[in-house]
Amino acid sequence: MAGQEIVAGKGADVDEKDFREIIDLGEIEDAGKPEGQDGERQDDYEEVCVLCHRPESKAGRLITLAKGICICSECMQKTMDTIQGKDIDYGKMPDFSKMPNISFLNLADLQNMIPQRQKVKKKKEKEEKTESLDIRQIPPPHKIKASLDEYVIGQEQAKKVISVAVYNHYKRVATNTMDEIEIEKSNMLMIGPTGSGKTYLVKTLARLLDVPLAIADATSLTEAGYIGDDIESVVSKLLAAADNDVEKAERGIIFIDEIDKIAKKKDTHHRDVSGESVQQGMLKLLEGAEVEVPVGANSKNAMVPLATVNTKNILFICGGAFPDLEKVIKERLNKKSSIGFQADLKDKYDKEKDLFSRVTVEDIRNFGMIPEFIGRLPVIFTLDSLTQEMLVRILKEPKNAILKQYQKLLALDEVKLSFEDEALEAIALKALEKDTGARALRSIIEDFMLDIMYEIPKDDNIGEVTITREYIEHTGGPRIVTRGVLALPDDTSG
Ligand code: ADP
Repeated sequence: MAGQEIVAGKGADVDEKDFREIIDLGEIEDAGKPEGQDGERQDDYEEVCVLCHRPESKAGRLITLAKGICICSECMQKTMDTIQGKDIDYGKMPDFSKMPNISFLNLADLQNMIPQRQKVKKKKEKEEKTESLDIRQIPPPHKIKASLDEYVIGQEQAKKVISVAVYNHYKRVATNTMDEIEIEKSNMLMIGPTGSGKTYLVKTLARLLDVPLAIADATSLTEAGYIGDDIESVVSKLLAAADNDVEKAERGIIFIDEIDKIAKKKDTHHRDVSGESVQQGMLKLLEGAEVEVPVGANSKNAMVPLATVNTKNILFICGGAFPDLEKVIKERLNKKSSIGFQADLKDKYDKEKDLFSRVTVEDIRNFGMIPEFIGRLPVIFTLDSLTQEMLVRILKEPKNAILKQYQKLLALDEVKLSFEDEALEAIALKALEKDTGARALRSIIEDFMLDIMYEIPKDDNIGEVTITREYIEHTGGPRIVTRGVLALPDDTSG
């Protein structure tokens, strides 16, 4: 499209006036105008210069060219200087004006290269900022815990610790302005077996507090420059979760799972780019640093605008199963108890169930986490492994319990679904055998509910279905009651 091309091919006689005329074809308009794209409030977002990537708040007023491409006056001036062949001091650039038929800047090409979402949400004015987090709006720990109780079964100590830590964290954020005594950041380290609800706890917390949450896997992180995501990509994820609103992201939560996988590798002579170096790289983020992250993408390529996010008020929660940590704890306990008059038997701790709860900072260090890293996660707590009884409760008690979901689905067909207690125990037992915590529950239930969900809608006469232990153990069928008439048990097995 001719109107969107700035052509320097006319030779040296292209002057500033011509250049403006050329651009005029692409409609110069005020960049601050709301455009109504995606039905969002466009005046909450600011444009970014397509050449230098600075947002309007930094680069000054931007000029909008065709198709919403914006350019700052500085870049515009540089471009015009180049076209006019003026001596400029930023590198030795060729004099395009003397080269015939050279397309200098093709706006249509730019349009294809820039990401769809190129805008950065504006930072609000200072006065508004202090209002945004009111200390009285932060729910007190007992209320946070009560809300968590509705979703997360058991893990009483963990829920208590996390509620207090989160309350303190947001108090610290809210009182940031009067920092005579600086409150330490309450980043957390959560230790618990797989499927015990670590991710679920954090997800529930973020939803209750209505703050953005980014979940990252430590195993995918590597030192910058190596294959894998670099460490700052977690902040980029959070920014995306906050809908590119820097201010909102700065109060969010970042959960880094599988943190035990970046423990220092023992006896390695290679550069440890995914272990100790990642821990080193995370130190600055955990403590609070300004990081430049790409907006709307996960790599800093040339055409993606960057936003500066301060991680000072971002709450970091690290979680991991730390599989061999029990061994480390046992070793320490055994060493201590085998010295002196009160020497114990060596296998005294072998059968102890809750060894995790005896964890100390020293154990975590011996596991392979570097002291500076542990030092930046002052709140350390453990989650219990789930028992059969807890698994049964997880099936039926949480607000969005899986059984309630199936009951709701069948209720829409006017069928009442119920479960015998023994059936639930059998499901929990099966899940325990899989050793993946509560995660196994869903797959087991989905397995045997498939037939029920398939068969029931076939017959309008069915009014009630009861899942029995025999059905779970494949020795019988569910109990079906037809509307008005009582049917014989096991009549649908087979
Ligand atoms: P992990 O500890 O490995 O991060 P998750 O949090 O992903 O485990 O748990 C997997 C699923 O199991 C969750 O989505 C949740 O539905 C269920 N779950 C686990 N623990 C609990 C719990 N204590 N209370 C309720 N549901 C739980």
